[in-house]
Amino acid sequence: MGITRRNFLKGSAAVGAAGAIALKGEPSKAQLKAPELRTKGLQRTTTICPYCAVGCGLVVDTKKGKVVNIEGDTVHPINKGSLCSKGSALIQVANNELRLGKVLYRAPKSDKWEEKSWDWAIGRIARLMKETRDRNFVSQEEVNGQTYTVNRNDGMAMIGAAALDNEECYLLGKFARAMGVGYLEHQARI
Ligand code: SF4
Repeated sequence: MGITRRNFLKGSAAVGAAGAIALKGEPSKAQLKAPELRTKGLQRTTTICPYCAVGCGLVVDTKKGKVVNIEGDTVHPINKGSLCSKGSALIQVANNELRLGKVLYRAPKSDKWEEKSWDWAIGRIARLMKETRDRNFVSQEEVNGQTYTVNRNDGMAMIGAAALDNEECYLLGKFARAMGVGYLEHQARI
């Protein structure tokens, strides 16, 4: 006997009903053997992808302080769980033996890298920034015979990255203006 459209629909309805009954009943043997989620019992933290200005939400699972899984945050309004290829590979940033975990410094004209402390690095960055600011600071400018107070530092520029949140961008903006920096940008605008 050939299958008519009516028979096919009846059969589909019967299979669907049987499936619905099975779902409501006791779990099957196959369901009981289903493996547990690999993230079960881990510490879950939400955060934002550091790569680009889209700002996708992430869920990071850690075990004893080590990142063991990163995936898209399904309730995040921007990405709703999806991630691009870069975001999907983020665990390789967290766990990577090639990642630099200490300060390396190469002095001018040297061909060697020296290991330095974080305090040394921060002190050096602060000193060089201060020197650059002092060297390039313009307090007044004359335009059409009129003198204006400008307090401007033309020797420095600053740029915010996508990894910065609103509050960090606010602080960076305040800091830049305190240094007289006018060339202030953010990656999201470029
Ligand atoms: S997952 Fe991709 S699109 Fe989303 S913020 Fe990261 S890099 Fe940008």
